[in-house]
Amino acid sequence: MKVIVADHSGFCFGVEKAINTAFSEGKDNENTIYTLGPIIHNKQAVNRLENHDIKAIDNLSEVNAGTVIIRSHGVSKKAYDEANEKNINLIDATCPFVKKIQNIVKEYKKKGYNIVIIGNPDHPEVIGINGWSNDESYIVKTKDDVEKVPFMDKMCIVVQTTMSVSLYLELTEMLEKKAKDVVKFNTICSATKDRQQAAKNLSKEVDAMIIVGGYHSSNTQKLVEICKKEKPNTTFHIEVAHELPINILKRYETVGLTAGASTPKWIIDEVINELKNL
Ligand code: SF4
Repeated sequence: MKVIVADHSGFCFGVEKAINTAFSEGKDNENTIYTLGPIIHNKQAVNRLENHDIKAIDNLSEVNAGTVIIRSHGVSKKAYDEANEKNINLIDATCPFVKKIQNIVKEYKKKGYNIVIIGNPDHPEVIGINGWSNDESYIVKTKDDVEKVPFMDKMCIVVQTTMSVSLYLELTEMLEKKAKDVVKFNTICSATKDRQQAAKNLSKEVDAMIIVGGYHSSNTQKLVEICKKEKPNTTFHIEVAHELPINILKRYETVGLTAGASTPKWIIDEVINELKNL
């Protein structure tokens, strides 16, 4: 079997930076280090961090002092204020792409614009971005959601970094008809765009596609959707090597592989080795 790995698969620079920050803080610190939410959406990587005394907490109310790392998804302004009040040593590993969106939202909210975020309302990145508009943004991820947005004078549109470009274009076109003055920012990060494009291209060339990444990882799910458009019956999403559908894959000559931004290299390597053994 021939295995082709897509370009740009695996850790993006934002996730890599957050993980490295966590490990280096953990090394220099005798006490437990906390991360506000799991530092990446990957169970196996989070377990590895826990073995280095780096633990995820859900809320700042769970600690009164110590060091807390803000993960790449970023947080709302309230979290910075709360950490300040409590004297928590906050280490900010928010990805610069996410920081940029937070700054846009802060600036345009101040200028009197209504903020519209194209994204998943339950995703921590979107919850954090919304926090920079006093939780007053409209959050849309479907055409139905856009229908519910009222007409307004001023609208500022931003998009979650891991959304697909096609969804952004489709929903923006509809949103533009809902305000007199619209400013829009395509804030999908380049790492995501490159990874999605490479996955799409590769899925056209192979018999089957394997997507490696956490089941809760938004950008991994997007990769699955993109590949399924090309390979509806032969796209497989797995988290770890032993989940490979070996009996099905044996039938194919060429298998493509890509991985989400939060999939560690050691997990990708295990999957590649398993496939090469077929
Ligand atoms: S996917 Fe993009 S925005 Fe998200 S952490 Fe990676 S580089 Fe940053």
